[in-house]
Amino acid sequence: MNRKKILSAILTLILLPACLCACQAAESPQAAGSESDAEQAVPATGAEEARTAQGGEDPAGDFSLEEDMNSEKAVGEFDLENHTVLLNSGYTMPIMGLGTYSLDHDTCVNSVKALLENGGRLIDTAYMYHNEEAVGEGVRQAMEEYSIPREEIFVITKIYPNQFSDPEAAIDMALEKLDIGYIDMMLLHHPGTDDVKAYKAMETYVEMGKIRSLGLSNWYVGELTDFLPQVTITPALVQNEIHPYYQEQDVVPFIQEKGIVVQCWYPLGGRGHTAELLGDETIKSIAEAHGVSAAQVILRWDLQRGIVVIPGSSNPEHIKENLDLFGFELTEEEMAAIGALDRNEKHDWY
Ligand code: NAP
Repeated sequence: MNRKKILSAILTLILLPACLCACQAAESPQAAGSESDAEQAVPATGAEEARTAQGGEDPAGDFSLEEDMNSEKAVGEFDLENHTVLLNSGYTMPIMGLGTYSLDHDTCVNSVKALLENGGRLIDTAYMYHNEEAVGEGVRQAMEEYSIPREEIFVITKIYPNQFSDPEAAIDMALEKLDIGYIDMMLLHHPGTDDVKAYKAMETYVEMGKIRSLGLSNWYVGELTDFLPQVTITPALVQNEIHPYYQEQDVVPFIQEKGIVVQCWYPLGGRGHTAELLGDETIKSIAEAHGVSAAQVILRWDLQRGIVVIPGSSNPEHIKENLDLFGFELTEEEMAAIGALDRNEKHDWY
């Protein structure tokens, strides 16, 4: 048995109890409610165990996107049947969802509800989007109207660098605005002064059960190399700009090899750039070959790279379409053709 398989088996044995705990919490009647309920949620033992299994010095490089010998999924490996990925925190996260940047209150409530009504379960927001309240409202309404348990829904929010000097106030504000019992994942939105201090505060909220998993946004190789040794809980996710014209071909494997899941922002290029990307001849011809849309091809390309997608949309038809990514598969040649579109062309400054 080679080293990868041995490590994979150890990880499975260690993570299984954490996953079972998470499932029990999911079924618990206390799971969705107030602060005291949140305290009963599963703490970050999964992260700790996963880190232990990673062996400290050489974190989970051997596990990412690999077939597990017991057919249990390894950290970072996509479960295409259930549309989820196991995080190093021990929780599972859906691999496609909705981004809410620039959605105003009512549009945001409606988009969140459209996502949840159509089977999507992952929502990305941020303090800086000024719509955490709307996301919370959409989640609560959908839970009620479509009978969706809170535990099935995964909400990511972020705190901004101008909040890092008083992170506890920022986290408390996010919990209050969202008003959905606990936060599934909180990210630092950008590197900045006091980012380590802010992250350590988030670690404390994980211990309290008020946040379940932690992550970073706009952290690249240099920033990660500097940051990771300074924190206790390895981030479960890094969210960065990635689309066919800006592919981060070196950064993505660097992150994934650490057992950290990559999620892309601006998957369709971002507003102002979508027409060019969706009209790209290479992407269009692949879409025609599969009888799907250009947006679906791009999102599927991400999934096949092991990258989680959160396309933004205010259009329920688009939201539905963006969830429909499992009836076709891109060939190696098609993946390579899209890979060749990389121009290292960022569509935002960070
Ligand atoms: P995006 O997802 O690349 O593009 C959104 C645009 O695509 C909207 O104009 C939307 O129009 C259109 N669209 C969506 N689905 C479509 C489809 N199936 N067919 C045609 N057009 C479609 O850009 P984004 O929303 O800015 O980025 C995604 C998410 O990433 C954000 O919402 C946010 O949550 C996150 N983000 C994070 C950061 C960060 O720093 N961490 C930065 C930027 C964004 P309609 O409304 O008409 O559907």
